[in-house]
Amino acid sequence: MQMDVQKGSIEGFRLSPQQKHLWRLQQQDGGQPFRAQCVVLIEGRLDRGMLEKAFEQVIERHEILRTTFHRLTAMNMPLQVIDEAHAWQLEEHDLSAFSVAEQSAQIDAVWDELDQLPLDLEHGPLMRTRLLALTPERQVLLVKLSAMCADNESLDNLVQDLTRCYAAARRGESLVDEPVQYADVAEVHNELLEGEETRASKEHWRALDLAALQTLRLPYETRPQGEGFRPQSLSVAVSRETAAKIAALASQQGTSSFNFLLACWQILLRRLTAQEEIIVGAAFDGRNYEGLDQALGLFVRTLPVKSGLQAGLRFPEFLGQLDQKTFESSEAQEYFDLDQLTSLEDESLAGPGFFPYCFSYAESRGACVAGDAKFSILKRSVLTERFHVKLSCLRDGDTLAAEFQYDANRFNRHEIERLAAQFLTLLSSVVEDLHASIEDFNIVSEAERQQLLFEWNTTAREHLAEQCFHHLFEAQARKSPESVALIFEDARLTYAELNARANQLARYLQKQGVGPERTACIYMDRSVEMIIAALGIFKAGGAYVPLDPASPKERLKFMLADTRARVLLTQSHLLDQLPDVQTPILSLDTEWNLIALETTEPPLSDVQPGNLAYIIYTSGSTGMPKGVAVEHRQLCHYVQAITSRLDLSAPGSFATVSTLAADLGHTAIYPTLSSGGTLHVISAERALSAVSLGEYFSHHAIDSLKIVPSHLSALLNASQGNQVLPRQRLVLGGEATRREMVEKIKLLAPRCDIFNHYGPTETTVGVLAYGLGQSSAEDLSATLPLGRPLANTEAYILDQRMRPVPAGVAGELYIGGAGLTRGYLNQPALTAEKFVPHPFGTEPGARLYRTGDLARFLPDAHLEFLGRLDHQIKIRGFRIETGEIE
Ligand code: AMP
Ligand code: MG
Repeated sequence: MQMDVQKGSIEGFRLSPQQKHLWRLQQQDGGQPFRAQCVVLIEGRLDRGMLEKAFEQVIERHEILRTTFHRLTAMNMPLQVIDEAHAWQLEEHDLSAFSVAEQSAQIDAVWDELDQLPLDLEHGPLMRTRLLALTPERQVLLVKLSAMCADNESLDNLVQDLTRCYAAARRGESLVDEPVQYADVAEVHNELLEGEETRASKEHWRALDLAALQTLRLPYETRPQGEGFRPQSLSVAVSRETAAKIAALASQQGTSSFNFLLACWQILLRRLTAQEEIIVGAAFDGRNYEGLDQALGLFVRTLPVKSGLQAGLRFPEFLGQLDQKTFESSEAQEYFDLDQLTSLEDESLAGPGFFPYCFSYAESRGACVAGDAKFSILKRSVLTERFHVKLSCLRDGDTLAAEFQYDANRFNRHEIERLAAQFLTLLSSVVEDLHASIEDFNIVSEAERQQLLFEWNTTAREHLAEQCFHHLFEAQARKSPESVALIFEDARLTYAELNARANQLARYLQKQGVGPERTACIYMDRSVEMIIAALGIFKAGGAYVPLDPASPKERLKFMLADTRARVLLTQSHLLDQLPDVQTPILSLDTEWNLIALETTEPPLSDVQPGNLAYIIYTSGSTGMPKGVAVEHRQLCHYVQAITSRLDLSAPGSFATVSTLAADLGHTAIYPTLSSGGTLHVISAERALSAVSLGEYFSHHAIDSLKIVPSHLSALLNASQGNQVLPRQRLVLGGEATRREMVEKIKLLAPRCDIFNHYGPTETTVGVLAYGLGQSSAEDLSATLPLGRPLANTEAYILDQRMRPVPAGVAGELYIGGAGLTRGYLNQPALTAEKFVPHPFGTEPGARLYRTGDLARFLPDAHLEFLGRLDHQIKIRGFRIETGEIE
């Protein structure tokens, strides 16, 4: 082809489709990472002069080794121009004076130097070589070729041709056979793509829906952290035993190692992404036509291999499907042009047109012999494509290496090490039980398992004596009797006063039959009396059941019957709306004169830490109210653990704005009253009004607030909303917190620490806590992370078979440790279903609570909330179909 553009003119050949693709990638990057590089060991006495001659001849024989790329300003693609003359030189270094270790360090250094050496595509040379003499009988040759001129097989062909030329030169001959020239093949390939008669083959590719690529992302994969493509590589060896089994099983199944390993890679991606449709860009050699197997040049093509990996699919079945698919793809490979596929112009290929996850497989050809010299490739690295991660498997005799090349702008090395370990674990699992289904195979290595189950889960195991909450409170009342314990509107009580009133009430309640394992209901508006009631019931030795006056009557009736309450504590203004019940009723306001007859000394009771403290009803997924039975030891564990985690030992003032009928407010109430702070009880009406709550906060200095994010959001959206933020510490919990919300709070209250707190009632108030900024991986989380387990608490992310899922993969969150409650009142079957035997526990009888929440680990062991399992529209495995978190 001849081009005359303005004043310039170039004569040359069109690029092949593969070269055009690579050229585009190179344009995007500016840099030139794309190359094929290898180390050739030459054993035997080498005639250097002959080697140089042989090289000259190889360059003479293959035009592609004399090709450079030229472009006039108006052209967007260059032409490949074959030069008659060439400026190639063999640079030699004598390393024979060095020790073996030094030599190998030198070889590495020269490798790196060569790798860094830029290749000038326009002026050449596009092949660089170094010859290092180690001993008189051993030398290594390093070769680097631009990927515009070579692929992996070209390296083998180059060494083979060099050996033949060397052998011929030693005989004083030269080779007469004529190799296939790349530029000719390039033209044929272009014509095939342009030809009308190939419509059917092109349809094969056009019909392929690649939309799944849009959502395919590995755990912890980030948006690029820098410009362009920064390829790095990590190589691991497959054990000889597994490597041998793979070869044997592949042939037993009538397929190739290529397909076998590709199947395993797709299964790993399926398991790590929780996506059923997996698309991998697999390297096909592009040498289907005769004579091409010996040719030099960029022939390899990356073709999409798309698989549907449904749950239950068995490995042999999948392998059979894949075998058929790769056969068809191989047949149609000449007609694939990524840049022509219109459906790919969108974001689906990460914009620039390449496959994020790639694969290649090659077999080393072994040594080439020329007289008494033996040439063999010791090491190679080939980069002809862009990707996020590429797995290249190379079999050399009975060894099998898995090289993970990755874009260091998207992954850190640690994640790739983990990925490599997972791949090796999967391979051993597959060869062990070939007929298993794809989700059966183990992918979690022993080291990762240790990390997930133990290292990331080692919360300080302090052995605290089990206690009852009112003893913690009494100790504090002795320490600071005159401090203000409680404020509700105009009412306020000191610790001494609160303690005295609770003692009187307790004595009175004991006479009504309240004692260990017996309950009393609290049907009250938020008030100082409500807190006196809770403490009084504790002190009487009983358990309280909070009933929200806003609940439907039917629900109240059910709870009264379910708990067989001895007495119902209320306020006279609520009497009218009480359901019709048999339970004795005590109005704390109008009947206080009776209670006041009791002494203020603490009553005696034989309540133990293992006795019930309260029962809270949750509706849960079944809709049926379930009474969660919480013991004193769990409440005290919680109080101590959260006090240390949120640094509440000098709590100042803490406001509670939620109902006592859920345990959200416990984070404020109990830690405050056991450490000498002032608890502000806010009425339901005030808590819902931004103006009125803001007023309160501006009159009282409030240090800490615990609130549900949607409640806070509603307050913040109202005018004057910004006054409702506390001075020191905001604890969000009960539902996920969106990042926009966090940003907004940071602007309004830059000095306030923001925490997220998570936990089901069944595990006592909260088990995970996170302080904004604690995780270096915070950005990977779509919502404010959940953080790590509190002291004496464990968190596990498990799959449906209760196996730990790999780091970063979604699974169900299970909780273990000191917060686990007794279970559901009067519902042993449901309790057994939700509180399951602890599969990794060391203590006999240990249980885990299955939360029904979907979560994953962030890379630094903080947890991320991903949604409710029962809110997923479709749950296949643990796939998140909605992607929405409410
Ligand atoms: P409950 O038992 O009523 O306290 O509800 C517990 C449930 O609320 C958990 O299982 C989660 O689904 C949800 N939840 C509680 N705290 C959080 C949080 N910080 N982030 C997201 N969801 C939460
Ligand atoms: Mg809760």
